[in-house]
Amino acid sequence: MVNINIDGINLQVEEGTTIMEAAKKIHVNIPSLCHHEDQSVKSVCRICVVEVNGQKLLQPACSYPVAESMSIRTNTPRIIKARKNILELIFSHHPQDCLNCDKNGSCELQSIAQDLNMNSPIRYEVELRGKAVDTSSPSITFDANKCILCGRCVEVCNDVQTVGILAKENRGYNTVVAPPYGKKLQDTACVNCGQCVQVCPVGALTIHDDTNLVYKAKEEGKVLIAQVAPSSRTTIAEALGEETGTVSTGRMITAMKMLGFDYVFDTDFTADLTIMEEGNELLNRITNGGVLPMMTSCCPGWVKFCETSYPKYTQHLSSAKSPQQMFGSVIKTYFAQKAGIDPANIFSCSIMPCTAKKFECKRPEMSDSGYQDVDAALTVQELAKLIKSAGIDFSKLEESRFDNPFGLGSGAGEIFAATGGVMEAALRTVYEVLTGEELKQLEFQAVRGFEGLKEAAVDINGTTVKVAVVHSLGEARKIMDRVVDGTADYHFIEVMACPGGCIGGGGNPVRNWKKVAKRTVNVYQQDKDLPIRKSHESPAIKMIYEEFLGEPLSETSHHLLHTKYAN
Ligand code: SF4
Ligand code: SF4
Repeated sequence: MVNINIDGINLQVEEGTTIMEAAKKIHVNIPSLCHHEDQSVKSVCRICVVEVNGQKLLQPACSYPVAESMSIRTNTPRIIKARKNILELIFSHHPQDCLNCDKNGSCELQSIAQDLNMNSPIRYEVELRGKAVDTSSPSITFDANKCILCGRCVEVCNDVQTVGILAKENRGYNTVVAPPYGKKLQDTACVNCGQCVQVCPVGALTIHDDTNLVYKAKEEGKVLIAQVAPSSRTTIAEALGEETGTVSTGRMITAMKMLGFDYVFDTDFTADLTIMEEGNELLNRITNGGVLPMMTSCCPGWVKFCETSYPKYTQHLSSAKSPQQMFGSVIKTYFAQKAGIDPANIFSCSIMPCTAKKFECKRPEMSDSGYQDVDAALTVQELAKLIKSAGIDFSKLEESRFDNPFGLGSGAGEIFAATGGVMEAALRTVYEVLTGEELKQLEFQAVRGFEGLKEAAVDINGTTVKVAVVHSLGEARKIMDRVVDGTADYHFIEVMACPGGCIGGGGNPVRNWKKVAKRTVNVYQQDKDLPIRKSHESPAIKMIYEEFLGEPLSETSHHLLHTKYAN
């Protein structure tokens, strides 16, 4: 431990602690634009400068380690002046359109400017980069003019996701962050995961906004049908300013009804349907010598990564569509018939934690109902915008229930939100179907948590079924390299593109690991609280097989619920 003094307060901290971390202990938040608590230290924005031992040269608090008897000042007039000067230089290169910027109200640059009382005109001439805004991606909008070169997106795209789309180009004043060879995002191997949006401190990388499609559908008199993903009910309240992890299923449904949705269904239902189809596909592959290891296919970010980085291995992907897309097919066929609605008059919309779902619903093969199965995939952040635009005070709403007949999913469907959840849900069903015995211990702890790779071996009727779970595409790459060299000795592998799984998805409120952990606790609590915790026991699942599909992997199932991949 070392003894230091910050702004007149004596404290002891561990050797190697940075000044920024030490200051937090006495409740001083030193501003920074490049620093992110889950990322490496970059020390590029220099907003965090402080005085150390009275030296003339200011030092960056994010990277400067404390030492014995160090005396630090974090708020002298010289420091405030230096920070303001750095901000003015950033402003001279940054569009001044805060009022209609997507990040208005949540921009870190705006917030630091406000905190530093930047209330007079800047002294420098404004010179913008003059780059065209890239709206080519269905998921992400990239405005390079707003980029402040912090490097957060470059790190997440290259080091965490290993997709390598974003990099710094050129030198000095001409430095920009851009996809390779001047390409637009849509023309690259970007998997649409939105993790770059999650870390961008300003409005350079934002979610492609589809809220206008809801208003348009209402104006056209369409029947508005929504499905809500498992993790969305754990993050919508957070997106509207409530505490992280607040579950608000009932209030969310009320708000959606007030927004004009005619039906609000629970995507847990098709998460259960995915387990029925995918679980039976796994049994089929194991007993009939199919391609193993089978890999989950419910994450469109991962599916695109597999298609672009491991195109020869797409036969390992389960042919089952994602829960979003299964619901899309079911709504415009089975439900439309049951409710007597012309499917052409349905606007089918999903509320997802995910930016990649926007890409997935537009894939040309996702139209087995005879129409685009899901017309729009909205993120949790977009639903929050719709609720705010309507002036709804979310905190005061009464609770409502999901609509029938797809209003009750199982706990197994609920845990799709977390890394390991799809695997655990599948094991609950596969075990009971194969053994005919009741599974006493429903929780598979070995596949829970945030380890990059989780493994389990489960004895089912004398066969040891080996499974693995990975999250983030960096971990997916490691396990795929083992599949390629033949050392991935598993029957079934779950892959989720986002760190932590969908609960850390690119369309959720801004994440860090502490928030993801807090949200995940409540995901598992919801599973515990549900009366039905296994997919095959859900009454809605029994009903759709009895009335419409026949049995898992039937011809109708294959037509509506399964797909093929690009290779
Ligand atoms: Fe990279 Fe994902 Fe952002 Fe695409 S969406 S640029 S893959 S981080
Ligand atoms: Fe979307 Fe979930 Fe995949 Fe992230 S992990 S890309 S949120 S499906």
